[in-house]
Amino acid sequence: MSESNPAHLDTLLQHTGLAEFDADTGAAPVALPSMRTSTVRFRDLEALDAAHAARSRGERTVAYGRMGMDTHAALEEVFCKLEGGERAFLASSGLAAITLAMMALLDAGDHVLIADCSYGPVRTLDATVLSRFGVSSTYCRGTVEAFEAQRRPETRMLYVESPGSLLFEMLDLPALAEYAKQHGMVLVVDNTWGSGYIYQPLALGADVSVVAGTKYVGGHSDLMLGAVVVKDAALAKRLDDNHYALGYSVSADDAWLALRGVRTLPIRMRECARNALAVCEFFAARPEVSRIYHPAWPQDPGHALWKRDCTGSNGMLAVAFKFDRAAARRFVNALALFGIGYSWGGFESLVQLVEPAALKSHGYWPDDGCPVVRLHIGLESPEDLIADLQQALAAAAA
Ligand SMILES: *Cc1c(COP(=O)(O)O)cnc(C)c1O
Repeated sequence: MSESNPAHLDTLLQHTGLAEFDADTGAAPVALPSMRTSTVRFRDLEALDAAHAARSRGERTVAYGRMGMDTHAALEEVFCKLEGGERAFLASSGLAAITLAMMALLDAGDHVLIADCSYGPVRTLDATVLSRFGVSSTYCRGTVEAFEAQRRPETRMLYVESPGSLLFEMLDLPALAEYAKQHGMVLVVDNTWGSGYIYQPLALGADVSVVAGTKYVGGHSDLMLGAVVVKDAALAKRLDDNHYALGYSVSADDAWLALRGVRTLPIRMRECARNALAVCEFFAARPEVSRIYHPAWPQDPGHALWKRDCTGSNGMLAVAFKFDRAAARRFVNALALFGIGYSWGGFESLVQLVEPAALKSHGYWPDDGCPVVRLHIGLESPEDLIADLQQALAAAAA
């Protein structure tokens, strides 16, 4: 096939990171095999010198096994295509990717403003690591007004997640990007929700996009992986140096699983999104439900921003119930098709009873203490999922 420039991500995802044709046979496998990490050897010293020179020019080179081989390079290319970036750095988990972005781009004495709707363990990273290295932080709502009230002369980074981790609040990324630029701050966005396919923070003005490949990219609940993606060469250089210095390395088999999973990202995400909307419709008709949190749902307060900035949705939603926490526990325990678990983005449906403390730390206490349940709607039949939710609501009332 000749080189082409397909405009749609659906197409790019099937044509990026493929194996090269063999020079002698003119043949190649369709799926790139997992090329395990190995010590690297060079034909001669000139080849070694060329590798070092390329690396100092900021190019991806393989001079040592830790950097990963062809499978890693292919996955990095896929992350760049998804996010519209120039360089992607792999990490052994989504949290390790967040850590890399923070450690690489913040110096001692710097201050970071963090949107309070961000992934919970960021607070652990902050309290356990960043604070020891002289980086201070403030949490507030993810709006320009709230950030501006907390900004200091030494604030160097805005760290946000959009939509938010528990209640899927849409943030105004273009406005935040403009604000960050005005004050010399780097805007880092956790884009695990969008995973590059339905939301592209770099195109909306962000400097850094972080993705937990553990979720929709891998898509099969069988690996841990993260990526940091950037466009800017200076940011890429800082990330590259720190990625190297911190000793980050990803197993080739995990990179391969992510590469295999990502080929079906579009259809999995579309199907999860369709099923999630069907579940929203079911909940909207139920008297026990006080509120639905899902930006693709027309009554969600973030719906207009979602329509403006996103090209699709996924299987994540949250519901606030009018009944008490004991009833919410009965509801969750009665579900048969939803696993009780923290992750999401796989093939299966999952449920989590959100801790009140987590909601409070996310700056939010919705509907006067109504219990909130977060759901990942998977690839099961939506009729079966709705029947399960229906019987669990009956169990909650009992
Ligand atoms: C799961 C998750 C992470 C962390 O990813 P891991 O691979 O589990 O470490 C980061 N951000 C968001 C929004 C997540 O949902």
